[in-house]
Amino acid sequence: MTAQVLDGKAVAAAVKREVAGAVAELGRSPCLATVLVGDDPASHTYVRGKRRDAEECGMRSFHHELADDTSQQAIEELIVSLNQNEDVDGILVQLPLPPGLDSEAITERIAPAKDVDGLHPHNLGLLVLNRTGMRPCTPSGVMRILHHYDVATSGARAVVVGRSFLVGRPMALLLSAKGADATVTIAHSRTKDLGATIREADIVIAAVGVPELITGDMVKPGATVIDVGINRVDGKLVGDVEYASVAEVAGAITPVPGGVGPMTRAMLMANTLAVARSRG
Ligand code: NAD
Repeated sequence: MTAQVLDGKAVAAAVKREVAGAVAELGRSPCLATVLVGDDPASHTYVRGKRRDAEECGMRSFHHELADDTSQQAIEELIVSLNQNEDVDGILVQLPLPPGLDSEAITERIAPAKDVDGLHPHNLGLLVLNRTGMRPCTPSGVMRILHHYDVATSGARAVVVGRSFLVGRPMALLLSAKGADATVTIAHSRTKDLGATIREADIVIAAVGVPELITGDMVKPGATVIDVGINRVDGKLVGDVEYASVAEVAGAITPVPGGVGPMTRAMLMANTLAVARSRG
């Protein structure tokens, strides 16, 4: 079997078209404030991409670029001023922050109503309660791909590999929430016999950060495999899934690049629109 390729780039383009249409109807241009600290090249690329997406969707972006020796206090003061700035709808602080900065404290400074990354404890709490709130972009992007390709989640067995607050945990909550109704296992670095655990899954979500950890022999024939991983190996981007061997066994698979990455960015636009709509 050769798996169907789940084209995140195409689905993301559709989401951005929807957002752009809604922005045109809104009658004003929502504004995303981006905060980038330090000179990590990957973070610079990500933020450039997010700002380009905002422009494509008819949104404005206010960009704040700070040196890597900027103090915790100065960053928190900037966040407070963005919280108070009526012009700003969404605030995005690009993670990871340089060593020595307390990123949890900085994330918690963002007003939950402007937290378009969905990572403030208030929004993560609303996710646990399955109440309306900002959802983290990567897991909600995965849900959108599954929905777009009619991958049935109800009653399906899903294994999420990785338990980070950024991807794995919220992913497991979204998949198991009422409406999605999957039966979810979270696997992590202490899981015994990862292969046996993954082989039970109809849906596998890999969010580990270990290049090509998941191989074809670990996957149930016909399963849907979503690769969240982004790893740079010898200058090349690879996922957490060994694409060639898994594509031989799986029913459907996301590529890296061109899978979950573009969806994460598209959902950031959807979240920014949602804030702008709620603020009127
Ligand atoms: P993290 O380092 O915070 O978490 C990794 C998780 O993987 C941990 O919970 C750990 O227990 C688990 N793990 C580590 N080694 C393991 C092993 N051998 N077997 C099983 N589990 C293991 O990482 P993260 O922030 O969740 O990101 C995971 C990956 O997703 C990274 O490659 C990251 O770059 C990528 N990512 C991609 C996007 C995107 O838009 N596509 C967004 C966020 C993160």
